[in-house]
Amino acid sequence: MCGFEALAEELEVEEAAVRVMLHALERAGALVRGEDFTLEAAVLLNRSPDEIAGRLDADDKTLFERLRDHLGLAQDQRVVYRALPFASLTDRHPFEVDSLLHRLGQSGELIFRGFQRGMTFAPGSRANAKAVIDAAAVSFVERFRQFSSRLEEMIRYAEMRADSGRCRAAFLVDHLAGEPGSPRCGVCDLCAPDHSVPWSAALLVDPEPLEIEPTMAILEAAPDHDGLYGIGTLKKILLGEAYGRRDGKSYALSAYARNSEHFGALRGTLSHERLQDHFDRLVAGGQLETIEKSRGDAGGVYRAIRLTDRGRDILAGAVPISGSEEPVTVNS
Ligand SMILES: [Zn+2]
Repeated sequence: MCGFEALAEELEVEEAAVRVMLHALERAGALVRGEDFTLEAAVLLNRSPDEIAGRLDADDKTLFERLRDHLGLAQDQRVVYRALPFASLTDRHPFEVDSLLHRLGQSGELIFRGFQRGMTFAPGSRANAKAVIDAAAVSFVERFRQFSSRLEEMIRYAEMRADSGRCRAAFLVDHLAGEPGSPRCGVCDLCAPDHSVPWSAALLVDPEPLEIEPTMAILEAAPDHDGLYGIGTLKKILLGEAYGRRDGKSYALSAYARNSEHFGALRGTLSHERLQDHFDRLVAGGQLETIEKSRGDAGGVYRAIRLTDRGRDILAGAVPISGSEEPVTVNS
């Protein structure tokens, strides 16, 4: 049982290498991949733990009470469940916990939101054959070399400049055909750098810097509510507004939203319009993305916000916020 990130850290190799390595071992029959499970999730009870436990059969009840004690579950309070510590403490497989929490989520007893998946692996039928492991190692080296060279090609493509005398289209055709010498297209940004376009290159290269505080507050709140809320609700959470108006009627934010640890993080600092502007720019910059979600019983769809890998990179301090020079350090 593991997560890619943790495994990469443990082995002190890149996460991409771990993925390729596991794939090579799997193909060679040295490993069998089992089902995924929820590695980390947020849990929020809609009722008191006693009330919930009272409706469960003996088996489920025992597991639920262990979870309650381990996580300090209480009504309307959001806690983070981590599968591996709980599994090692209790000897209960994360599948059992997933199954119980999903069932309780479906019946409305609690909200269960996974934000990281873990994997299970078992030794394969050929795990003990040394030749198989050697073959997997060779295949890993070859595949990882391919992976790295493709990545380098992509970087080279992205970094080509007009003065290089290259052409975007020719680069792609050469790559696919496996031989150089394709003619230049004459119309790409490298062939015709002076061709006028309906957007300004200066704006793309040097956009107005994003302000650090609202940007970080939005990026921090997004993964906790990944793909759950639209911009409207996230703005209310950040501005600390428990009530809103929709179709002429006032409504209260859900208990889960009100109990978000980001509730009120930007209270009194900026207007709805300014905050909307920040969301728009993070969506345009690819740090956030919108996904279509169904409203469930109520019918219809809405657009929810999700953090992208680009947003995650900023949140993790791996890349600076566009416009600020220093990488951002996040205190947790
Ligand atoms: Zn061209």
